[in-house]
Amino acid sequence: MPSYSIGVDLGGTNLRAAAVSPKGVMLQTISGRTAIQDGPGAVVGDMVASIEELRTRMKGQTLVGIGVGVPGFIRLETGVIAGWGNAPAFNGYPIRDEIEEKLGNKVILENDANAAALGEKWVGAGKDVNDLVLLTLGTGIGGGIIAGGRILHGSLGMAGEIGHLTISPNGNPCGCGNNGCLEKHASATAIAAMGRLVNLGEGLTALDVYQLAVEGNDRARAVFRTMGEALGIALAGLVNIFNFPLYLLSGGPLPAWDFFAPAMLREVERRSYTYRTAPARIEPAKLGGEAGLYGAACLPFQSATGSSSAGTL
Ligand SMILES: [Zn+2]
Repeated sequence: MPSYSIGVDLGGTNLRAAAVSPKGVMLQTISGRTAIQDGPGAVVGDMVASIEELRTRMKGQTLVGIGVGVPGFIRLETGVIAGWGNAPAFNGYPIRDEIEEKLGNKVILENDANAAALGEKWVGAGKDVNDLVLLTLGTGIGGGIIAGGRILHGSLGMAGEIGHLTISPNGNPCGCGNNGCLEKHASATAIAAMGRLVNLGEGLTALDVYQLAVEGNDRARAVFRTMGEALGIALAGLVNIFNFPLYLLSGGPLPAWDFFAPAMLREVERRSYTYRTAPARIEPAKLGGEAGLYGAACLPFQSATGSSSAGTL
């Protein structure tokens, strides 16, 4: 009998779920809004309803398991969201146990950026490697590290918080308590903030800054150079630590690649002897917003086989 897994990607705006084949083909998908304003109970209710709907649609096939990607810091062993900046009502919420209780099934919980990195490794830009780092540029910056084909978790599941690497000792204050975090200098939010700072306009978004850069606006282009330098500083550190073959970037600012990548690569080159000696690939990711969904669906297959490489499934 054919088998499948279910992946769920809980985002701040959208809640999506998919039934996925062992080879990484999406068979059925469901998507809707995340009802954050209604509290954790309502969100879990929607997640469980999506999973049950997919099981109904996939009747007759064997469900291998369920993987769930959620934002914020999570404690893997207890399945608790330790901190989700945009949704404080979820802080300390035992999301895994709540889903399992309502569903009557085990689920595997994962941080959304980690899941996205695994998705890229499984069916995306990282298919041909076993070691990679993914940075997702959005409101903040998420990070995921794949080592030996598997997510690097650290002791509590909080490894890979690359958005909170210090890239400027006295830089912009961050919600995490630090100053000069990468995400305060290179996220979509940071691009918009820098655009306002150089008087490009009030109420500006990162997309507005990008459009101005396309039109040839020097200050808008300078914003992306500054953002690229911040990314390059972080990437040089990552290359020095890991010596991995591949570093991927994804998220809303990626269309501005030509504006920020030259400064980024120059900075990596300047700051990393390892990179100059053995250049790694620093590239856009391929799966966009779907990466986390693929990664969540990959988790049960990895767990079932104990495989050291998702690519061998
Ligand atoms: Zn921070």
